[in-house]
Amino acid sequence: MIEEIFNKQNQLKNKLRLSSSKERIAKLNNILNWILNNRANIKTALQKDFRKSGEETDITEIYPLVSEIRNVKKNLRKWMKPNFVKRSIIYLTHSAFVKYESKGVVLIISTWNYPFLLSIGPLISAIAAGNPAIIKPSEISPNTSELISKMILELFPNKEIAVVQGDKAVSTELLKLPFDHIFFTGSTEIGKIVAKAASENLSDYTLELGGKSPVIVEKSASLKSTAEKIVWGKYLNKGQTCVAPDYILIDKDIRNSFTELLVNNIKKYYGNNHQEVETNLNYARIINEKHHSRLVEIIENTKQNDGQILYGGKYDSENYFIEPTIILTNCEGCKISEEEIFGPILPIVEYTNLDEAIQWINKRNPPLSIYIFSNNKIGIDKVINSTHSGGIGLNELVIHFSHPHLPFGGVRHSGIGRSHGFAGFKEFSYERSFIKAGKLNFLKIIYPPYNNRKRKIVDFFVKYL
Ligand code: NAD
Repeated sequence: MIEEIFNKQNQLKNKLRLSSSKERIAKLNNILNWILNNRANIKTALQKDFRKSGEETDITEIYPLVSEIRNVKKNLRKWMKPNFVKRSIIYLTHSAFVKYESKGVVLIISTWNYPFLLSIGPLISAIAAGNPAIIKPSEISPNTSELISKMILELFPNKEIAVVQGDKAVSTELLKLPFDHIFFTGSTEIGKIVAKAASENLSDYTLELGGKSPVIVEKSASLKSTAEKIVWGKYLNKGQTCVAPDYILIDKDIRNSFTELLVNNIKKYYGNNHQEVETNLNYARIINEKHHSRLVEIIENTKQNDGQILYGGKYDSENYFIEPTIILTNCEGCKISEEEIFGPILPIVEYTNLDEAIQWINKRNPPLSIYIFSNNKIGIDKVINSTHSGGIGLNELVIHFSHPHLPFGGVRHSGIGRSHGFAGFKEFSYERSFIKAGKLNFLKIIYPPYNNRKRKIVDFFVKYL
């Protein structure tokens, strides 16, 4: 069945490549209306998958998609137009331009942590660029995957857009096919498998991978608003966010007072103790047993020797609940410091000077984002100039993901390629270069046979043009 859909999409891809912006926008409008009409169903699916609250679903799944579609609708005509480049003196009579053309049949493999957003987001870019697509949503969030399948069946024939549900086995089957582009969101480990499979067919690919994004909190930072932002960004979706602040690097002198501010905000947002948090409907659960026990192991290892629990640390394995937790650590080589946390545990690492913080970051793979909270321009510049990351947040975090005009992506282990808005449209397109001859052909001067006059002209080119 998978191959049949793939073949049908291949037959249609050229027609879609030639589709107008109006036709593509009509499809995006159908998605937009479906989302707006099914807001309640989307919320129910996410509630069933990991008890995500309606408010968080509105803010982090529905609104970013609605805003992405509106942005594409506003700009697509302009993006699709040929983009003329400057004339060059040697090619004076030629006109030259770039046109974005659809790549062809694309595969979108997505993950469970924002299961609706991360499946439909890339689809919006794929449709904008004029591609047919197969979506393989995550088997770990089955209710949302089922809803995505229902939505696509209602809106598209499968020769254009199809959903194929299943686990690793289905993914593996799909990855054998010669897709024109593969868009993968998930862990770095599986990202490598996807890249290997893509290389067999020389398929293009985008990898949106793991985070481990550090936050630097410098002495000069406005500590009150910094704490508000960090607690929001960390415990949103219960830390199961690729761009979540993974851990804090903080100036030793302010660690005590800053921890107090963090704790005050946890209490304000979610409740004064673990019972209050556990019954708070805005506090979601860890997605499954595997991820829950991974996080419990981090807490238990901390109790042994990997650090000191400054706040929280309680959990309930019956319903995958983990209390907002803060851990002081400087353990090199421990899971807490080397692996993406992806849960409501916030490690704090102290530094005595900014160079130590930079070294700590640079000993690890380049993260998806680096967040710097500081009012000291010299310090900020130092961090920016001596590190790599997909994004930077200056006294801000997480929200660069949903800014309509910012490309989003990582660096090597945190990702390859860019998505969202114009960057997403480009990712699903080939930049095709056109050159068109004018009436006069000055270039004859470089055609043989070569004589002294031609040699002099070429010599002039080499020296001056
Ligand atoms: P995962 O890599 O286990 O799974 C992602 C997808 O890959 C699923 O659809 C799954 O079915 C499929 N898959 C699993 N094993 C496979 C295999 N062997 N071959 C082919 N496909 C396979 O990821 P996860 O644990 O579900 O997601 C969490 C990770 O995703 C985190 O690291 C997080 O940071 C990352 N993430 C990144 C972004 C981003 O935009 N950069 C966004 C969200 C999540």
